[in-house]
Order: sequence, then structure tokens, then C-alpha cells
Amino acid sequence: MTDTEALKSQLEQRLSELEARVAGLESDLRAAHSQDWEERASEISGDEVLEGLESSAMDEITKIRSVLKRIDDDSYGACSGCGKDIGAERLAALPFAVLCIQCANKVAS
Ligand SMILES: [Zn+2]
Repeated sequence: MTDTEALKSQLEQRLSELEARVAGLESDLRAAHSQDWEERASEISGDEVLEGLESSAMDEITKIRSVLKRIDDDSYGACSGCGKDIGAERLAALPFAVLCIQCANKVAS
């Protein structure tokens, strides 16, 4: 198995975990709220926490999907700024990186 294939199966596994988590959060959010006012208030702030967790999971899902798409296109590992190789070391540290270190520094500065 190549590194890219290993990464792909890792990402696919992570993606299904995240999707299961989002589905669980959705059903928690939809669970009927109690009629008691005090309990309702604490449930509502709990909902905000759940929504925060959901949106960070959704962000990660979006990133993973775009990496998987790049792997399928064979463009994974190429900088989307200059087209050069991002480099194995940088990708190992930042699997979602789409820019090489030079382009990333240009964007950051
Ligand atoms: Zn670049």
C-alpha cells in the first residue's frame, strides 16, 4: 500500500466516524425539550455546545472530502498555489495542507 492509499483509508475511516458523530448530534439536537423552564434554559445552552461540536465536525468533514477529492484527481501533494510538490514532511505534519511552505508563508505574511 502506498502512503497515499494509507492516508486515504485513514481519512475515509475518520470521515465515517465524523459522519456518525454528526448524525448523533443531530438526533440529540432534535430530541424533545422538556417543558420545565429551568431545565429548558440549561438544555438550550447545551444545544449551543452541541452545535459548536457539530460545526467543527462539519468543518473537518469538508476538509477531509477535499483531500479525498485531490487524492482521486491525483492532485494531492501538489501545491495549489505554484503546482510544485508540497513535500512529504509537510504533508505528514499537515495532511490537509494545500499550499507548499513558500506559498503558505506568502499568504501568511
Ligand atoms: Zn506553492
